[in-house]
Amino acid sequence: MKILVLNCGSSSIKYQLFEMPENKVLTKGLVQRIGEEQSQALQGNNGSNLEIDEKIPDHAHAMHVIERMLTHPEKGAISSLEEIEACGHRVVHGGETFTGSVVCTQELEKVIEAYCELAPLHNPANLTGIRAAKAMFGDVPQIACFDTAFHQSIPKTAYLYGLPYEMYQKHKIRRYGFHGTSHRYVAREAAERLGKHKYAVNLITCHLGNGCSIAAIREGKSVDTSMGLTPLEGLVMGTRTGDLDPAIIFHLIRLGYQPGELDTLFNKKSGLLGISGLSNDVRDLQEKEEAGDESAKLALDIFAYRIKKYIGSYLAVLNRCDAVVFTGGIGENSISMRERILNELDNLGLQLDNKKNQTVVGEAGEIHTNNSRIKILVIPTNEEGAIARDTYALAREYEMVESTI
Ligand code: AMP
Repeated sequence: MKILVLNCGSSSIKYQLFEMPENKVLTKGLVQRIGEEQSQALQGNNGSNLEIDEKIPDHAHAMHVIERMLTHPEKGAISSLEEIEACGHRVVHGGETFTGSVVCTQELEKVIEAYCELAPLHNPANLTGIRAAKAMFGDVPQIACFDTAFHQSIPKTAYLYGLPYEMYQKHKIRRYGFHGTSHRYVAREAAERLGKHKYAVNLITCHLGNGCSIAAIREGKSVDTSMGLTPLEGLVMGTRTGDLDPAIIFHLIRLGYQPGELDTLFNKKSGLLGISGLSNDVRDLQEKEEAGDESAKLALDIFAYRIKKYIGSYLAVLNRCDAVVFTGGIGENSISMRERILNELDNLGLQLDNKKNQTVVGEAGEIHTNNSRIKILVIPTNEEGAIARDTYALAREYEMVESTI
């Protein structure tokens, strides 16, 4: 079965075409700068195979560009769109309604729309993508996979803030958590590597990419995570602050900052970029640090310290932990960042094997010593692959229901 996975942003669509159940990527691509004067679409390995430069005014038009790329006579992967039997969509916010992926009916679209309030930067674009795909694919099932769904198992003690309870009742203010598809994917892969059932493992999963979050997983289910109502809370990230004293906001407002300005400051100008004044990219900062730059070192130290602090607190939450898992661009590739995070954690049962750490880059592997009580794993994430799997499972069920009606 061929499945198209779509990740729609406000001005971009990323896509991957899978052959299922093999989970094989047939091709992938990206349409960017949708709505701008000059848009661009790239498809193929490293985006080098096929390129279209033209004005792409909206997502509906972008879907037709994707069709042209997928069915390109020489460089395409299929001869007709009819070969695609289902589409999977990444949707950022599913609120408290969605605990797993779902087939998108009109009713469910309305629920996703209602959550635009909680994710104004993401859900509207995700929904636009679903609607554009529906318009193009007709009856082909459209499946929504939510970043928040995996974290719906978090108990109230961990998802409520210390605010008056009515803030939750009236305004749905609570921790939702994000990167759920990634945390779930690496948790399942970790269980398999550990030779345990997916609901028999206790893990701490660290998704360290441009956005960063960490999750405590008990018996295969998320019981706490660092991101909150929005992706701003928790770890220090490429450009986001992570945890802050909320009174800093009142203080800055009294100093004359506008709420919108603070939103940009906290989300886009802080984190590694803001602290170093140099870059949001760990690779750049590592290079600068090696050349003796103190601000790069400080930013990397703060980044690692916050992760260490969360690992410690989640060890307390879980009591028993089988493994700490690293994933995301930084978690999978940065030897020195893993070293920074994991040094001096022997007393908590985590002992890094420096030699193994040097060799596991961009691939799955173990990086703990034989004496480490808790295992330390690197597992590359595959959010699109996880969405393809969910889409395949739901599309097959959908097919069975349709054929019995
Ligand atoms: P992601 O959002 O998962 O694609 O991760 C992006 C981040 O991963 C980049 O901003 C880099 O900081 C980091 N990254 C990717 N490759 C490396 C590498 N080889 N060494 C250190 N950091 C890396």
